[in-house]
Amino acid sequence: MTGLEIKNLSVNIHDKEIIKNFSLKVPKGEIHAVMGPNGTGKSTLSYSIMGHPAYHPTQGEILLNDQIINDWSPDQRSQAGLFLAMQYPVAVPGVSVANFLRTAMNIRRKAANPSDKGIPIPEFRKILKEKMAYLKMDPSFSSRYLNDGFSGGEKKRAEVLQMAMLKPEIAILDEIDSGLDIDALRIVAEGINTLAQENQMGILIITHYQRLLDYIKPDVVHIMMDGHIVLSGKSELALELEEKGYDWIRQEQPLP
Ligand code: ADP
Ligand code: MG
Ligand code: MG
Repeated sequence: MTGLEIKNLSVNIHDKEIIKNFSLKVPKGEIHAVMGPNGTGKSTLSYSIMGHPAYHPTQGEILLNDQIINDWSPDQRSQAGLFLAMQYPVAVPGVSVANFLRTAMNIRRKAANPSDKGIPIPEFRKILKEKMAYLKMDPSFSSRYLNDGFSGGEKKRAEVLQMAMLKPEIAILDEIDSGLDIDALRIVAEGINTLAQENQMGILIITHYQRLLDYIKPDVVHIMMDGHIVLSGKSELALELEEKGYDWIRQEQPLP
């Protein structure tokens, strides 16, 4: 399958099993949402998919385009087309948004073609300007140090800007809606929708709240509790969850 596949994945943190026999398929071109209460393992799942060394699986497989990537480094995963927008993006003082993006794009170009000389600066500027315009970002933003003193909303926009510039095949967006007011939420969501359509990406939206899904319509909604998916359904499932809360599922789906 072209896309991301997770098969029977388990991940421990400090000897405690957090991800429990988790399985999910996100084919390219589809949008999947994983919703779940706080502490259920959503961020742990996203770090595991990206290859964070502290989140190595105790069982199961992660596949990208039918290749098992369990032993790949985060860099290798990124070059192969995986992207993670983190719930808590880290600051990189001393490195501007523009330089960070150009370096990341050049690493990728070089991986694809070792004789590549890097993206010409005028071409880079043109693409950056275009992407920043549709995310309604002020042009001065690109010369600020990455995430250094950014507001919650600015961090999230910077994550979507990275996604727009790097054009991954599969993007995992961990709580991309947190800290956004309603206008920023709409802009970020429209940006994600445009990218998804232009690039036939596969997208895994991880969220606690339903409201983002008013703007980005997922093909499938999965509910994650206690480290694994307990229920999957169409986008209406998110509305049902909003109305009834997570307790309703706890009652209907006794946990092991
Ligand atoms: P979610 O993203 O769904 O809110 P997390 O993946 O952040 O959940 O956390 C799942 C569980 O793992 C929680 O009980 C949390 O306390 C624990 N956990 C996550 N990361 C760490 C860590 N680095 N050290 C210790 N415990 C952690
Ligand atoms: Mg959390
Ligand atoms: Mg989280």
